Amino acid sequence: MFCYQCEQTMRDDKFLGCAADKGACGKDATTSDLQDILIYQIKGVAQYAHRARTLGVVDKGVDDFIQFGFFTTLTNVNFTATRFVSLIQQAAKIRDDIKQKYVAAATKRGQSVEELDGPAVFHPAANMDDLLKQADVAQVNADHEQVGEDVNGLRMLILYGMKGACAYSHHARMLGYHEDEIDAEAERILDYLASNPSDLEDLLTQALAVGHLNLKVMDLLDRANNGTFGNQEITKVRITPVAGKAILVSGHDLHDLSQILEQTKDSGINVYTHGEMLPAHAYPELKKYPHLVANFGGAWQQQQREFAEFPGPVVLTSNCIIEPARTYRQRIFTTGPVGWPGVRHIENGDYRPVIQAAKALPGFKQDTQEETITTGFGHDTVLGLADKVIDAVKSGAIKRFFVIGGCDGAKPGRNYYTDLADQTPDNTVVLTLGCAKYRFNKRAYGDIGGIPRLLDLGQCNDAHSAIKIAGALANAFGCGVNDLPLSLMISWFEQKATAVLLSLLAAGVKGIHLGPSLPAYLTPNLLTVMQERFDLRVNHTPEEDLKIALG
Ligand code: SF4
Ligand code: SF4
Repeated sequence: MFCYQCEQTMRDDKFLGCAADKGACGKDATTSDLQDILIYQIKGVAQYAHRARTLGVVDKGVDDFIQFGFFTTLTNVNFTATRFVSLIQQAAKIRDDIKQKYVAAATKRGQSVEELDGPAVFHPAANMDDLLKQADVAQVNADHEQVGEDVNGLRMLILYGMKGACAYSHHARMLGYHEDEIDAEAERILDYLASNPSDLEDLLTQALAVGHLNLKVMDLLDRANNGTFGNQEITKVRITPVAGKAILVSGHDLHDLSQILEQTKDSGINVYTHGEMLPAHAYPELKKYPHLVANFGGAWQQQQREFAEFPGPVVLTSNCIIEPARTYRQRIFTTGPVGWPGVRHIENGDYRPVIQAAKALPGFKQDTQEETITTGFGHDTVLGLADKVIDAVKSGAIKRFFVIGGCDGAKPGRNYYTDLADQTPDNTVVLTLGCAKYRFNKRAYGDIGGIPRLLDLGQCNDAHSAIKIAGALANAFGCGVNDLPLSLMISWFEQKATAVLLSLLAAGVKGIHLGPSLPAYLTPNLLTVMQERFDLRVNHTPEEDLKIALG
């Protein structure tokens, strides 16, 4: 195995990346190799889908599969090796079907059929043992010795950004939202990757193309969430338990949560959100369910302790799952792209096994004294306060905005973000998003003339809101986004965050602080390029970085 897609990848003086029997996340070598083969095979699907599309043949089933397949390979999503064996076989069949459609369309038009190689002609073995013998060709750094680490690093920036964009796109598809333009661009970029590109300048251009693509995807997902569940509203969310039977829903997928809420509505069971599901409480069509009672716990890396404490079943709808402890393994469920060996998987949105488990488990014996936090500051809510915010900036009451958000993780260095938020001066506003907010979202930061100093914009994909708000402020002040009193301190962990970073760069945002440590695939040369072109900054201490930002 070789994998260096996330922030917790193994690093020492000599070697970067997880390459032993198991990655730091618990992904074993078998699953890692099978994931690489799936990615390789999906590139082959994209090679034909891209060409078929240029001849007018569009197959939504193919687009669905490409994006779902990519999602299964994100960090902390699916650890079930056998599931990847079937996905690889499915990919081969889909690739052969779309190839036939391409050949038929080309022949019908009297055009020559392109002879493709690489993933387009890869024939996966029928069983796991034989598949693993084919893993070398698909390994993400298969030719790194020939092309060098800079080329490989940029290829990975594109690949991992595409993983994040595909995951967001899949969430939108679950709500019935998709766009041909997005699917076409995703296939074009994957076709480009399948050609083993090695021109550094071109690779950088394509990395920004992933950022542009993900801007469109985040906008689509925003429309999907708001169009389905109503615009986010400022909402106080209870964070302490209520007496009664209980189900905990973790992950990002609002569609899954809505199904669970609908199927439990007359059951007397209370539903709680966990991790990135917190912003769900702000959507009118989700908060209308009185049994969506509270948010429980914090960010994903605390799940082994928190799930053990929760007295009911837990449903994981997307990233980030980590090895379930024995104490709750029997009452945890996965759905969609998520999987863990031996953990029950919910198919087709039928949550009856979860409801049965909730009825059989004790639930919370009694109410705990009510405590709340506030969420729901989507772009519509914040832009509704625009006049007030602009006046506060003009009068000097607000001196600077900080975006402190992204992913959380287990490393002690992530306290940087807690300390940073705590030390922001009273005349500054902190916009947060993603699960990094749990580092400080239960703290009181007060307000500036009625504008809360901490505004929770939502999930990590709601970086789209931050970009929209920054654009609106720049318009109001007649300046560029980089001239605003705005500092972005982005905490990354996995591939959704890579996609968001590329989107910010594609949107022209400069001076982003990225931490707590840089992606392993950003070589020293690539970092220099990113610093020169985008003023990408590394974290120092919160004190030093605040001083620079405020200076
Ligand atoms: S996902 Fe991260 S921790 Fe897991 S194997 Fe890959 S780099 Fe290592
Ligand atoms: S913000 Fe990142 S780390 Fe946090 S739950 Fe979402 S994907 Fe996982």
